[in-house]
Amino acid sequence: MTPLDPLLFGEIDPPQRLLMGPGPVNAHPRVLRAMSADLLGQFDPEMTGYMNQVMALYRPIFGTQNPWTMLIDGTARAGIEAALVSLVAPGDTVLVINFGRFGLLLGEILTRIGAVIETVDAPWGEIVPMEAIAAAIERTGPKIVACVHGDTSTTMAQPLDGLGDLCRAAGALCYVDATATIGGMAIAADRWGVDVVTGGLQKCLGGPSGSAPITISDRAADHIFARRHTEAGIRSADSIDGAGPRIASNYFDLAMIMDYWSDKRLNHHTEATSMLYAARECARVMLGEGLEARYARHAAAGRAMSAGLRAMGLTLFGDDAHRMTNVTGVFIPQGVDNDRVRAAMRDHFEIEIGTAFGPLQGRIWRIGAMGYNAMKHKVLLTLAALEACLLREGFLLPAGAAVPAALEAWG
Ligand SMILES: *Cc1c(COP(=O)(O)O)cnc(C)c1O
Repeated sequence: MTPLDPLLFGEIDPPQRLLMGPGPVNAHPRVLRAMSADLLGQFDPEMTGYMNQVMALYRPIFGTQNPWTMLIDGTARAGIEAALVSLVAPGDTVLVINFGRFGLLLGEILTRIGAVIETVDAPWGEIVPMEAIAAAIERTGPKIVACVHGDTSTTMAQPLDGLGDLCRAAGALCYVDATATIGGMAIAADRWGVDVVTGGLQKCLGGPSGSAPITISDRAADHIFARRHTEAGIRSADSIDGAGPRIASNYFDLAMIMDYWSDKRLNHHTEATSMLYAARECARVMLGEGLEARYARHAAAGRAMSAGLRAMGLTLFGDDAHRMTNVTGVFIPQGVDNDRVRAAMRDHFEIEIGTAFGPLQGRIWRIGAMGYNAMKHKVLLTLAALEACLLREGFLLPAGAAVPAALEAWG
């Protein structure tokens, strides 16, 4: 066999794409710089100091005082899976508030766990009214209620005020996947009264995928620690602390991960050092900007994107009252080729916009303005480029209307 020529594959040198889809988006340059910092041993006091700083930095971002606020190593899905596998035992009844693809993902993970799954559903493009959630909790008596905050598949944001009270009154714990909203729309874990919230870096936090911030309420932490003593499960091979049976996941066992992030510093996995640097810098960038300013910037970007798309004569997808601010769904007009437009956006303008899944596949585009990309000039460039690509497709639109409308709406 001839040896592989090491020069066959060049140095990584990606094109300068502007990622205006539903995530991932371009990372903030400060985050990329932080990731190139030198590595540390996982118990180095400098490293554990950074871990403690990350815990402090993410509390305001989650809108919480929860001591247990940290990172799960892996993409956002790792956070979701860690939360569910650690909260839910086989046979537990879980109510899923389902209004899009990521609600379906919660159900898929819960099926693997062996939970009894109940759902309260909304059609794609709508949210589930709080009264319907209250009735479903009453009807199903769940131990856990699981929900997505912003579902990028439909671009809808589920209102969560009051959910915690309903869960508490029913004796249920509540989990929220806030991957698509964290950093762009306000997360209020304590005010909502929800128990576990997880996120990811690659959307409105403006980092790469690969780290999942999580916050855990004290009552959820009590539940998680209690499970280790009361349930039979697969005992992990490296269970050297004699703590007894474990849940059926080692990597995602929150009790073990919390022991690592606590002062006990019990060995679990090797904290993903460069990702921790990234998560820390994402949070520093965000808190430096200010939470309110950051949410206002995303809201302005969403308003401008919506106004620009409408000025082109396009129709937005979904319920106007419950749009996510950071990603907008828009119907692909009749006679316009989805793939050709997206290819032209990429080839001529270096701009990526998103397609859609499931029932919306081929019907809508999802255009994001998240984190480092929720900027006026990036929104205007995207609209101008889309206008040019639609005109090339022969779609008749009022040329030149989108950019001024977006500028006006930005405010
Ligand atoms: C994007 C997104 C995810 C993505 O998970 P990854 O594992 O990081 O790909 C999860 N949940 C929601 C609601 C999302 O929008």
